[in-house]
Amino acid sequence: MQTATIKFTKNDLAKYPFLKEAADYVKTLELKIEDLASPEFSQILERAKERVEEAILYTIVSRKLQNEEVEILSFPTATMLAAATENSFIKRRYALAEAKQTYNDLKFEPRAKILAIAENFQWKILTVNAEEAAAPYEFKLHFTNYLKNTTSLRERKWKLVNRPLTHGNVYLTKNETARLLSEEVRRHIEKRLEIKELPKLPQKITETAETLKSLTIEKIGKAEIEGIPKTVNKEAFPPCITALYEAASKGRHISHIARFTLTTFLVNIGMPTENIVDLFRASSDFNERLTRYQVEHIAGERGSRTRYKPPKCQTLQTHGVCTNPDTQCKEKTHHPLVYYRKRIRDLK
Ligand code: SF4
Repeated sequence: MQTATIKFTKNDLAKYPFLKEAADYVKTLELKIEDLASPEFSQILERAKERVEEAILYTIVSRKLQNEEVEILSFPTATMLAAATENSFIKRRYALAEAKQTYNDLKFEPRAKILAIAENFQWKILTVNAEEAAAPYEFKLHFTNYLKNTTSLRERKWKLVNRPLTHGNVYLTKNETARLLSEEVRRHIEKRLEIKELPKLPQKITETAETLKSLTIEKIGKAEIEGIPKTVNKEAFPPCITALYEAASKGRHISHIARFTLTTFLVNIGMPTENIVDLFRASSDFNERLTRYQVEHIAGERGSRTRYKPPKCQTLQTHGVCTNPDTQCKEKTHHPLVYYRKRIRDLK
């Protein structure tokens, strides 16, 4: 068993700027909000704006570690910018995007560093040795921390009854620990963004926040921001997607265009990458690395950074993917996402 003993480097703080040590470091600089609007700090404000932009466009915030100071300082500045938009979609998206990048980085960290980051959030966590638990388990986490961070994870594997548990501790692989820590980070940032009353902000900051709001409306679309709920509602799926979802979850073979349609649809309604990857797990030729790559590519988190949309109904009809269109399909629908949004509104 091991407890954390490592000291975070400046590079760690740039990579994980939500850590207490990063906040302490920022405090020592005694910066004021007004300073951020001055030309000397323009690099920080620019990077902060970029962080929120990346979150809006690609649901991920890349790390730029060549200038650690700017990277550390741009995190609280980006949090302030997201809060200044007073837009719940942007705030949620920003928290999620930072959490996703954290997951991507944590997966490759040594155990000791994961442990130290977990302890930063007061997790009751220990590493396990080979005698105590067989591979692939590397950590054991107290069930209270486990439950807090699995409430929004819907796959069956996260249910407490499906986990190895001893003396109140849940055994976890390194990947799973990284995933739960990223949930903790998401909740931590969302909490920081719950500011009831904003302080008086310099004009430059409010203007930047306005630019970010316009970008969101332009790229994401007003209807999508307002009409797509945070949680996925399968009841609102159009018939074609219901059929594809069922086929995929039962491991049945689906054509390339059908798979593309299903993945793009799920990405666009906000299903997390992990859940989409898990959906394809039942397939006999399932390859986790490849599936994850494809989903992240479609979500715009890799390569061209374009988030793909599902094809229109007309295209799906041509390719035989349109299945049992119902009355709503026949009345007005020209796109599966339009169907979903309308149905969500009706169900409300
Ligand atoms: S009409 Fe469009 S939304 Fe409805 S089942 Fe066909 S492809 Fe899907």
